[in-house]
Amino acid sequence: MPEKRDYYDILGVSKRATDEQLKIAFRKKALEYHPDRNKSKDAEEKFKEINEAYQILSDSEKRAKYDQFGHAGVTGAAGSAGFGGFGDIFDAFFGGSQSSSNKKASYRGADLEYPITLEFEESVFGGEKGITIEKLIKCDICKTINCSNCSGTGQIKRAQRTMFGQFTQVVNCQKCSGTGDSFDSGCQKCKGSGRYQDTKNIFVTIPQGIDDGMQIRLQGEGEPGFGTGQDGDLYIVVKVQEHNIFVRSGNNIEISIELNVPTLVLGGVIKIPTIQGEESLTIAPGTQSGQIFRLRGKGIVDVREQNKRGDELIKVFVKIPKKLTKEQREIYQKLRAISEDDTKKSVSDWVSRIKDRFS
Ligand SMILES: [Zn+2]
Ligand SMILES: [Zn+2]
Repeated sequence: MPEKRDYYDILGVSKRATDEQLKIAFRKKALEYHPDRNKSKDAEEKFKEINEAYQILSDSEKRAKYDQFGHAGVTGAAGSAGFGGFGDIFDAFFGGSQSSSNKKASYRGADLEYPITLEFEESVFGGEKGITIEKLIKCDICKTINCSNCSGTGQIKRAQRTMFGQFTQVVNCQKCSGTGDSFDSGCQKCKGSGRYQDTKNIFVTIPQGIDDGMQIRLQGEGEPGFGTGQDGDLYIVVKVQEHNIFVRSGNNIEISIELNVPTLVLGGVIKIPTIQGEESLTIAPGTQSGQIFRLRGKGIVDVREQNKRGDELIKVFVKIPKKLTKEQREIYQKLRAISEDDTKKSVSDWVSRIKDRFS
C-alpha cells in the first residue's frame, strides 16, 4: 500500500487554511480531476484522494485529530467512504435536499380562528356555548394508501447532471408532499385529497372571568395535519358586550351612582347592585362628590386563578336638583343664610382655598 500523501498538500493549502479556503481549494481540485472531465489514467484516484482529504479537513473534529496524529488519527474515518459520502459534500456546495434522511414529511394542520360575542354576564360567570364552524375534516370514507409515485416512502430519487457528472438526489415526492400518503381518487367526499369541507358543532367551555379580546384555545380543533403531523388548534376570539351599569376594569367592576345632598352630608346606608346581587354600602357623613367606595371580593373571578376575585368600586357623585318644591326652596334659602356666603368672598379667598385643596 503506497504511503498516503498529506491532506493539506493534496488540496494545495496551508495548515492554517480557513474553512472557506478549504472549500475553494477543494472545488477547484475536484473540478480539475473529476473523472467525467479528466480522462487521464490517474484522474479517478486523484479525485478520490481530493475527496478524502476534504472530508477530513472540513470536519473540525477530524481535522484536529489529523493535525495531532496524522493519518493514524483518522484511519477509517474517510477513505473507504469514497464516492458514497460524496453526496453530502455535493449537497453542501449546491444546496441539495436532506438526502441522508429517510423520514417522511409531515405537516401540522392550520390553526383556525372563530369570533364569538358574549353577553357581559356570560363573560363574568362562564358557561358552555355551542358554535358551528366550517372547516376541513379528514375523510372518514377513503383509507390512506401508499402514494403511487413514491411507493409510500415520501421520497423520490432524481438523477441530476452537473459539471461533476451525474448524481442522484433524494427529494420529497411532489405528489404527496413527502408524506407518502395517498387517498382514493374516486372518493366522492374528498375527491382524493383526503379531506373535505364540512360544518362541525363544538361546545366551547367559557371560563369565568374571561375578558374582551381574550382567546380560548381548543387543541386539535383546527385543520387536520398531513402525514403524522398534528392537527391545528382552534382559537375562539372573545368579544364581550357592554353592560348598562357595570364597567369592567381588570377584574374590578366599576359603577357610578348619584346621591342627594343630604345623603352625602349626613351619611346613611344605601343598597347597591353588584354582579352577585344586592349589597349594603355605608356612606359616611361628609362624603365628597367623586369619592370612591370599595366592596372587596364583589368583582370578577380571575380567569387564570379562579380562587381570586376583584372588587366592586363605587364612585359617588352629588345629585343637584334642577327643580325644587316650595318647601325645599325655603329650606335651601334658610341654609344659605346660615352658611358661608360664597358671593361675599374676595379673589384672594378663592386663591388660598384652591391652594389648600392641592397641598
Ligand atoms: Zn409520494
Ligand atoms: Zn375520501
